[in-house]
Amino acid sequence: MRYERSKKLFSESQLYIPGGVNSPARAFGPVGGSPVIIRRANRSRVYDVDGNEYVDYVCSWGPLILGHSHPSVIAAIRKESEFGTSFGAPTLNELKMAALVCRCVPSVEMVRMVNSGTEATMSAIRLARGFTGRDLIIKFEGCWHGHGDAFLIKTGSSALSQGVPDSPGVPDEVARLSVTVPYNDLEAVKSVLRENPGKVAAIIVEPVAGNMGVVPPGDGFLDGLRSLATSSGTLLIFDEVITGFRVSLGGAQSLYDVMPDLTCMGKIIGGGLPVGAYGGRLDIMQNVSPLGMKVSQAGTLSGNPIAMVAGYTTLLRLCGEDVYADLEATAEKLTSGMMSIAKSNGYPVCIQRVGSMFTLFFHPGPVRNYDDAAKCDTERFARYFHSMLDQGIYLPPSQFESWFVSHAHTEKDVALTLKAHEKALKEAFA
Ligand SMILES: *Cc1c(COP(=O)(O)O)cnc(C)c1O
Repeated sequence: MRYERSKKLFSESQLYIPGGVNSPARAFGPVGGSPVIIRRANRSRVYDVDGNEYVDYVCSWGPLILGHSHPSVIAAIRKESEFGTSFGAPTLNELKMAALVCRCVPSVEMVRMVNSGTEATMSAIRLARGFTGRDLIIKFEGCWHGHGDAFLIKTGSSALSQGVPDSPGVPDEVARLSVTVPYNDLEAVKSVLRENPGKVAAIIVEPVAGNMGVVPPGDGFLDGLRSLATSSGTLLIFDEVITGFRVSLGGAQSLYDVMPDLTCMGKIIGGGLPVGAYGGRLDIMQNVSPLGMKVSQAGTLSGNPIAMVAGYTTLLRLCGEDVYADLEATAEKLTSGMMSIAKSNGYPVCIQRVGSMFTLFFHPGPVRNYDDAAKCDTERFARYFHSMLDQGIYLPPSQFESWFVSHAHTEKDVALTLKAHEKALKEAFA
């Protein structure tokens, strides 16, 4: 049986780990069935415990832009680990890393390393509140900023109402401080700012949304947020945990040429190890403890020397001139091929792509916000997903995620994927 060992191990995992997973998105909940247990990976391929091989478009949910087990990243990790694994003291690696991040990301003048994207967004919000002396934040429906209390908020009855908790354990008092508005809707942001003068600390946004499937910012959306933030004394925070070093070396802020006050980073920045970071304007960052207003934020393993060298080696490779052009070419080839197969058969799907991140929506499109995304045919997607899996193509197990193309994906991978896609679409629409 193709998935026998995976199934057995996963039922055992469920005895000891909630849902058998250390992060819920891995559990195949939205598509049904039992997840494959991964044993190893190389370049564009992952291998499960039953020995099945897959072309991987999850890429650890984004971090592995160079592909799995990149030789220079692995060599750097191996070498560095010989020197010890953690010191709880300043190191040369974190200096080199911070300097490189400030060089790559245009709005970042100073940066603090943390251990995950969640930590980055939580810390950035605290800093924004400390710096502005205000409590409210504006966020967008369908954006994901990790599992901090302030972000686990859904929209109240009116689109402009203040939030209600999206999870048990988030106090109403906390939820009320987050206002959720539709993505790509500047008027809604304007109204919230107008109704709450002098109260909004920050607007936090995924500059390209990646967590309701890929939804690019509409014309003028990011620019509009920039001017609304500036005119209201609100800080603009770009959550570039996915888009940072993904849509360009300088992230979405470079691609769209809009400068946020603070930027949250994660995923690619760790080269496959657990790293997050937040950074931005010097006059703001100079209030993070131990400086200035001493906004609290600390971490025993933050700036871990092995994680830093994995991230640094990855970023250095991304500074090479070829990488983003190659990623664009591979992703273009793949998605145009996928769409021409869909169109020639009249299937009502669309693809939204920015660089090497894209989503195949089971909806004719365009998908501009969460309400649009919610109209997708998730049952057809589930059938498509399982057909692709059975044909050796590993996709994110949810309609509302991004596929990631890495620099290790080849023409052959594209050809294999297109062949599987044609059959999977047929099965999805059967
Ligand atoms: C993944 C993600 C996060 C959370 O990062 P973790 O490392 O999983 O905590 C935050 N924001 C965005 C946009 C993400 O995609």
